[in-house]
Amino acid sequence: SSQPLTLKSLKVRAMDTQEGVPSMPSFDFHGIDQKLVDRMVYDSLVWSSLHGLVVGDKSVQASINLILMLDYRIVQGQRSGKVPGVGMVHAPFALLPMPFPETHWKQACEVAPIFNELVDRVSLDAKFLQDSLSRTKKVDAFTSRLLDIHSKMLDINKKEEIRLGLHRSDYMLDEQTKSLLQIEMNTISSSFAGLSSLVSDLHRSLLDNYGKLLNLDSKRVPGNTAASQFADALAKAWTEYNNPRSTVMVVAQADERNMYDQHWLSSLLKERYPFHVNVPVEEKWIVEGFVPQLYDTHNITSIRKTLAEIDAEGELQADGSLMVDGQAISVIYFRAGYTPTDYPSESEWRARLLLEQSSAVKCPSISYHLVGTKKIQQELAKPNVLERFLDNKEDIAKLRKCFAGLWSLDNSDIVNKAIERPELFVMKPQREGGGNNIYGNDVREALKALQKEGTEEDAAYILMQRIFPTVFSTFLLRDGICHKDDAISELGIYGAYLRNKERVIINEQCGYLMRTKVSSSDEGGVAAGFAVLDSLYLT
Ligand code: ADP
Ligand code: MG
Ligand code: MG
Repeated sequence: SSQPLTLKSLKVRAMDTQEGVPSMPSFDFHGIDQKLVDRMVYDSLVWSSLHGLVVGDKSVQASINLILMLDYRIVQGQRSGKVPGVGMVHAPFALLPMPFPETHWKQACEVAPIFNELVDRVSLDAKFLQDSLSRTKKVDAFTSRLLDIHSKMLDINKKEEIRLGLHRSDYMLDEQTKSLLQIEMNTISSSFAGLSSLVSDLHRSLLDNYGKLLNLDSKRVPGNTAASQFADALAKAWTEYNNPRSTVMVVAQADERNMYDQHWLSSLLKERYPFHVNVPVEEKWIVEGFVPQLYDTHNITSIRKTLAEIDAEGELQADGSLMVDGQAISVIYFRAGYTPTDYPSESEWRARLLLEQSSAVKCPSISYHLVGTKKIQQELAKPNVLERFLDNKEDIAKLRKCFAGLWSLDNSDIVNKAIERPELFVMKPQREGGGNNIYGNDVREALKALQKEGTEEDAAYILMQRIFPTVFSTFLLRDGICHKDDAISELGIYGAYLRNKERVIINEQCGYLMRTKVSSSDEGGVAAGFAVLDSLYLT
């Protein structure tokens, strides 16, 4: 017999901001019956398996015999990241949704279209992008290569008339100031639109069954249509390009354990879904609950190619259109190409340039990609910079309210402060995909080393105010095993933007991603193994 348990009562206590080290849990789940937890764990594992809330399983290795029979290339890696349907495991997730204040949720949703517009405006200011990144270019080879492609497009006066952005703006709720602060804006390969929609459904389903015992209401978990809205945006871009025989091309990594998240979008472009994956975004679900709908198919085919394959199989036609492997490509959706390891040779860089030169719609274009760098985030946070790109004063104020402290390392006052109190800062290079930032004492060491060198290496980094969200006790599930731990969350809000010349076709918020990580870990990536997928419970 379990006592009602509210999410509020799960609250532990704030991180010790003095040291940046979380305190040990002082609260235990006295109220929750272990048997109930076990039942929910079991049900949620079954649900994940049946609904495609899955990722490739690292622990699945190919047996040599099977490899030889199938394809020698598979020897290079593990089949679970290459062959769909082989070696799957449920995606790591939190058993229960994270409590989150409704006011901050609304605030995050409200700014999504403004950020979409900002990205578009900034992308058109080539000089701003080149100037802001000019020092970084000298010391960061990866950013430099991206800027070279950008310059080449300027030289040939390349215009992107149809522009598609599938973004995700990430936030943490700072406990002390109660403010929603942006961690970063992702403009390339914004992941988990597919799987996050499922986690919200899973939590609603669990609360439909067990909510009474927990004193929780499934309707307080907002519906999440990220997957179908992203698919809709890709479909509308395809329509704008206006070649009915063309396909969407997903640029993928050769070995991708998060392939199912991507396959969800391809599948939604092609198939008909009679259930949860497509529901319109309407406030009323929160009140009235969820209404299943039949979803009309877009019937658009997509193909998956690596950058190396594109280099080998891709060619530009005389009219600038792109053919890959004999197929006309109208929309290029990047789920690779955001990190230096995606470019092991010149072949991949050639492919990226080829794609950029083509008339296909790129999600993202090289300009959109550059707008999403940490350096640009920091430049946009400087006084009077937003005003250069946006007209509406209220919009500007709304965005600025979400900006945390961001600084360039040529500001010696802030560098000295960070050496003194490194726990209050995060040091970030121009990288994506998690696992690249510097925290705690390493910040001090890195800054001192840079000072000693006295070179321009410092331009590779920015400094950011460290945000300390409220710590909650949470059940985290990974590999079928449930752990209870103290955790903090990061809320990502998806945004889709599509325009053709002066006509804005889509500018909307598209569902969300909640990621929860053990509070003792600095980094947060789900794919990188630091965090689990979650949803939110409005409080
Ligand atoms: P990436 O593009 O690699 O995802 P992020 O800027 O999102 O880089 O940083 C990765 C992770 O580091 C975030 O998901 C978050 O968990 C943590 N992090 C980043 N910035 C901050 C910050 N200012 N305060 C606290 N944690 C942060
Ligand atoms: Mg990122
Ligand atoms: Mg991130």
